[in-house]
Amino acid sequence: MRKLIFASLLVAAIGCKNDSDVSHLSAEEETTNPKNIILLIGDGMGVTQISSLYAFEDKIASFDRFKNIGFIKTSSSDNHITDSAAGATAFASGIKTYNAAIGVDDDTVAAETIVEILSKKGWRTGLVATSSITHATPAAFYAHVAHRKMEEDIAKQLLDSDVDIVIGGGEKYFNAREDGINYLDSLRSKGYHVKTKSDQEIEVQNPAEKEAHLMASSAMQKISEGRGDFLTEASLYTINKLQNTNDNFFVMIEGSQIDWGGHANDHDYIVDEMLDFDKTINAVLDFAEKDGNTLVIVTADHETGGYALSSGKDGYKTVTGTFTTGGHTAAMIPVFAFGPGSENFQGVYENNEIFHKMLESVK
Ligand SMILES: [Zn+2]
Repeated sequence: MRKLIFASLLVAAIGCKNDSDVSHLSAEEETTNPKNIILLIGDGMGVTQISSLYAFEDKIASFDRFKNIGFIKTSSSDNHITDSAAGATAFASGIKTYNAAIGVDDDTVAAETIVEILSKKGWRTGLVATSSITHATPAAFYAHVAHRKMEEDIAKQLLDSDVDIVIGGGEKYFNAREDGINYLDSLRSKGYHVKTKSDQEIEVQNPAEKEAHLMASSAMQKISEGRGDFLTEASLYTINKLQNTNDNFFVMIEGSQIDWGGHANDHDYIVDEMLDFDKTINAVLDFAEKDGNTLVIVTADHETGGYALSSGKDGYKTVTGTFTTGGHTAAMIPVFAFGPGSENFQGVYENNEIFHKMLESVK
């Protein structure tokens, strides 16, 4: 134990030296080389979902804090309209692939992910989602399977991944599987600290230890069903843990259920989930502002619902949420970037460019 404390003090001391070095960098160097990257994905979040915060909540949203803004075109390799699997693979591996593909190309060959690439360079990585951690978006950052429905295979692949910490739902894909194997035990024997909803004890973890928090059997609850501040708390927990190691870190945070509100054509569901995501973005920006060395990107894989703010009963005086589809749409998606390297995210470009821009920023 004493040794661990000493090790973390040593890391902190080295960290201080690095911090003071940073202050001597020129302004140009400071703006092009972030130490950390945090990618926030609002699944199914188009311009209208963002606009709903302003239209119905009359609030100053986190989106006001970004200066560098762009748009992505989101088609997949085989469809004009993408699904979340191909959309996340574009972000995670830099390739356009077919709908339902998780971390594989059109020939189902594994495509290296940003988590794998940065881990090789010594970066720490974390994934947070309000879906199961084996769901399409988080899965594309650590797994390689032909179809998104292969969630038990995806769970198995977490074992051999480089991810340092995952927080989300999906316990059943690890311990109530068709093959009867308990992959929670396997995670433990691989050195992961595993926490599930039934574990009450709170322990302070060694920053170097890997962690898997599987806080629901499948997806996390909706906000309206009592999820509370899970997303913000899990995101800050992950950031703080990885920052304590003093290595560079990459974190992907997904507001998974904005998409589900769109599929359900449920206006209140969308606004609840947007408010939650907005709160998390604000918390991440507060960290990044203080840190000064973290690139934050907020975007989405696609829009869901053909959601519109249409005129209400009183004509143009009021607006109401309406929908054109129960599926996804081909609308372009905004990209908001903050911090060193954020200027590279301006313009109109393809979704897979997000991957290349992130990696170019840390070359
Ligand atoms: Zn969807």
